[in-house]
Amino acid sequence: MDILKNLFSLEGKTILVTGGAQGIGRAVADHLAGAGANIVIFDLQGEKAEAAAGEIAEAYGRKTFSRQVDVTDYDGIRKALEESVQEMGQIEMLFNNAGIVIQKPVIEATPEEWKKVIDVNLNGVYYVAQLFGKYLIENGIKGSIVNTASMSGIIVNYPQLQASYNTSKAGVTHLTKSLAYEWAEHGIRVNCISPGYMFTELTSYVREDWRAKWAEWTPMQRLGKPEELAGAVIYLLSDSASFTTGAELVVDGGFTIV
Ligand code: NAD
Repeated sequence: MDILKNLFSLEGKTILVTGGAQGIGRAVADHLAGAGANIVIFDLQGEKAEAAAGEIAEAYGRKTFSRQVDVTDYDGIRKALEESVQEMGQIEMLFNNAGIVIQKPVIEATPEEWKKVIDVNLNGVYYVAQLFGKYLIENGIKGSIVNTASMSGIIVNYPQLQASYNTSKAGVTHLTKSLAYEWAEHGIRVNCISPGYMFTELTSYVREDWRAKWAEWTPMQRLGKPEELAGAVIYLLSDSASFTTGAELVVDGGFTIV
């Protein structure tokens, strides 16, 4: 018997991935499907989410579904979750990953820019987790949730100017612990991953020489690839982490060591 395969298997599970149209969400969704899961994608980019769901279904022979969802729209999330359950049946797991960044010095950033980042990265993560957790509890499902925080919730990226982002991500880590405590009695585990510098759309606006600096400052001397987060998410979602809740798994090539 292949013990490891069984331990990390997501066979027969259905997993909701937010921000799954591209980047980290998309790469992880591919690997979740590879580990046996059916996939639901919620993303602001509806067409891209639909294309991703179609590609995953074809590549891995899984059932998939997608909806255009803005994670700041509470009623929109609730409606899309209902439609997903209707279409896919029971959903047990959530990779709560959608996020944005706005880089501005604090004294230049408008209140609207601050609110926008907090709204997507913190309120959005809360809304999706709250509605999904409510669904699990009301239906007696022992599920598992992984939120995407960031190493920016631990350190302040020098000299990047992103106070709103850093603050939102520190909030996601503490929200993770709070949910883990509150829902442990229902058999629901809640953990988060904190990625370091990865090369995705989110970071592609940065000048080439800055990306080179990031690599230089990372002990592993390179940026991470989105698919390098998949193992961490599979571990935390699967039964291999059956006694792990409220944990933050940092995946940063060693950046936060120094
Ligand atoms: P990305 O921009 O490539 O992908 C983000 C996805 O989220 C996109 O598909 C986008 O359409 C979606 N999205 C944005 N706002 C949304 C909203 N309001 N509602 C629904 N969907 C929305 O970025 P990424 O690098 O893949 O980032 C994914 C997550 O990882 C984010 O939470 C980000 O903060 C976090 N993260 C990224 C890095 C990095 O270096 N790239 C590092 C640490 C953490």
